[in-house]
Amino acid sequence: MTSVVTRIPGDRPVFSVEFMPPRDDADELRLWNAIRALEGLDPAFVSVTYGAGGSSRDRTIRTTARVVAETTLVSMAHLTAVDHSVAELRNVIGWYASHGIRNVLALRGDPPGDPNGEWVKHPDGLSYAEELVTLVRSLGDFCVGVSAFPYGHPRSADLDEDTHYLVRKLRAGADFAIAQLFFEADDFLRLRDRVAAAGCETLMLPGVMPLTTPKILSKTVELSGAEVPATLAARLNPLAGDPKAFREEGMNVTTELCERLLAEGVPSLHFYTFNRSKATKEIVVDRLGLAPGRSLARLPGPKSVGPDPTDACGPQVVGG
Ligand code: FAD
Repeated sequence: MTSVVTRIPGDRPVFSVEFMPPRDDADELRLWNAIRALEGLDPAFVSVTYGAGGSSRDRTIRTTARVVAETTLVSMAHLTAVDHSVAELRNVIGWYASHGIRNVLALRGDPPGDPNGEWVKHPDGLSYAEELVTLVRSLGDFCVGVSAFPYGHPRSADLDEDTHYLVRKLRAGADFAIAQLFFEADDFLRLRDRVAAAGCETLMLPGVMPLTTPKILSKTVELSGAEVPATLAARLNPLAGDPKAFREEGMNVTTELCERLLAEGVPSLHFYTFNRSKATKEIVVDRLGLAPGRSLARLPGPKSVGPDPTDACGPQVVGG
């Protein structure tokens, strides 16, 4: 099983994609159409988010395993500590391993129902992602990722505290981090700088969501925890009643964000797809030229593309 970090060599920018577990048969069909449409673009890896409860979790597990069994893609499973005892977490991790899944994004997760509600640890479970990183590491040869928050996690008192705990979980054995959505490249670059200033050079990947509709823009506000910057609002808000014009400008904004990140040496972009392929494909292929056989479009070139992926501050990988 190939590890995520070996798929991000650093000599040429690449991209990865994130899917959600399908809710029903129609959603499953849509998801698999998207997976097939993106497979030929050779993403570095694909990940499947971990559901909040029972059946949704089963669909995460099944989908991740099906990606391994039926495609050429490198698969990464998300896993959260929500409502799981350590014994259950061990079982899920063991199941992943037995299906050839060796890349795990280790997360604490949010309280089910109300993400901002009180976090109640399972009586026999874990409190923080850091402990899940340690657990996954202890169970075998896994490549482990964690989440990071450009504006700080909503539960962190301030950015110093946020960086402190992020660095702790990276040092617990994470090989890379994926950043939550953000609006401006500097927001991500400052996060990367904070972590580097703490003496940690772990590979950091930005999360990107093509801003194709006002609804997606609102979702980005919700997930990022930040308001739309005034310059961006001035470009997009006047187009809210014109879907075609909004999409075009939203795609321009997203492309400019990606271009700046790549120009700043970011080695890979992680696209949230909402189980659709069209916008991601358009940005990756037509606008950035990141797909195989394409030349990099409109990027300042050539330059170093970020830290050596083998130079992480956690223990090194795995896979194989
Ligand atoms: P942690 O790293 O544990 O941090 C949670 C809070 O506790 C932070 O404020 C942190 O600073 C603080 N903290 C950490 N360690 C300590 C400590 N030792 N002592 C005191 N305070 C501490 N959710 C899902 O349900 N399923 C998914 O598939 C999913 N995928 C995601 C993918 C990405 C890329 C991102 C960015 C988020 C994802 N989430 C997912 C959401 C995530 O689970 C929530 O944002 C959750 O609130 C934080 O999880 P975490 O792993 O960052 O938590």
